[in-house]
Amino acid sequence: MKRKLRLKPSVLKVLKILGTILVIFLSLLIFYFIQVNDLTKIGYSKKAANQILIKFKKKDVINIGKNKTLNKAFESEAYKEKNFDSYTKIKYQNHEHLTENINKLLKKGYTNEEISIILAHGTDQDVSEFAKRDKVRYLEEFYTIDFAKIKYYDRYLNYMDSSREDEETSVLIVNLEMDKEEYEDPVVVKNFSYDMLVNKHRMLSKDFVPNDLVMIGLDYASEKGLKANRTALIAAKKMIDQAEKEGYQLVINSSYRSYEDQEEIEKTYRDLYGDNYVSKYVLRPGFSEHQTGLSFDIGSRRANVFAKSEEYKWIVENCYKFGFIYRFKTDFEEITGIRHEAWHYRYVGKKIAKYIYDNNITLEEYYVRFLDK
Ligand code: ZN
Repeated sequence: MKRKLRLKPSVLKVLKILGTILVIFLSLLIFYFIQVNDLTKIGYSKKAANQILIKFKKKDVINIGKNKTLNKAFESEAYKEKNFDSYTKIKYQNHEHLTENINKLLKKGYTNEEISIILAHGTDQDVSEFAKRDKVRYLEEFYTIDFAKIKYYDRYLNYMDSSREDEETSVLIVNLEMDKEEYEDPVVVKNFSYDMLVNKHRMLSKDFVPNDLVMIGLDYASEKGLKANRTALIAAKKMIDQAEKEGYQLVINSSYRSYEDQEEIEKTYRDLYGDNYVSKYVLRPGFSEHQTGLSFDIGSRRANVFAKSEEYKWIVENCYKFGFIYRFKTDFEEITGIRHEAWHYRYVGKKIAKYIYDNNITLEEYYVRFLDK
């Protein structure tokens, strides 16, 4: 039996109203999604797009187009309407407190350009610290140098005042911790790498051991039991073989030395020559590059004074081809803090070795300019 469904007029009326509400609601929802989509498709996050709509800034944002600093500002609770224009102009950095720090720096009176510079020269934490201090005067003098760090501002200024060096030298020296006394408050280098930097301001801990230590046979070494990093040793052997082909007789006299070995050396020399000699000529344990397994003291098998040998002349001109640098040249004494050593060669890999050879710079300077990010 069939029966047609008949609704009471009052029920029908309620349904009509509900239907209308639903249609309006769905239309609004679709409208909203279109609005959000307009913003997300030009590079804003959903979270930022929401805030842009709530703050009625869609038209402005669309005109500006994609802008990472602005996106981050809209995502942040710290967004300030009066700083909108600055957010569009300040160069983005991937910092957690980007918007907060921009607000603080603007309040201190920095321009948008200055804030871009500050942000580019430090971590989020460095910039947060910097934003707490009063406005500094000499910003661009230091921060046109791309490896200058915002956290060292005072040290740059102090070093420059006391030394009368130029900005670039001051930045270089401070980045290398060389505004401090030798051995004072050194950086502890933890990871092994072919481009690692160890000197009187950057030490290795007692338990640091290089990767892949292997023994060196008497065919390449002047004594038994010497060890070195495998890759560095392969390169050293190639260099010694090539030298031999050309008529030069190189030999490895010393290579890897542990922390304990260096302690032993220090003790021996102290007993022999006294404290004064040791503090002047013997590196403290942890501060010798020989602990990296990448350094070799090279001699000639036929001359006693290496610096006067034909082998020395050959290695100076050829070591870079095998990935080695002439680490302690006379010209470098002021930066390395080590008196000239004709015999000491350090493996860094071919690319860096060639750059250092071509430009006649120290490993320290290379580190500051290209490795210390
Ligand atoms: Zn050496």
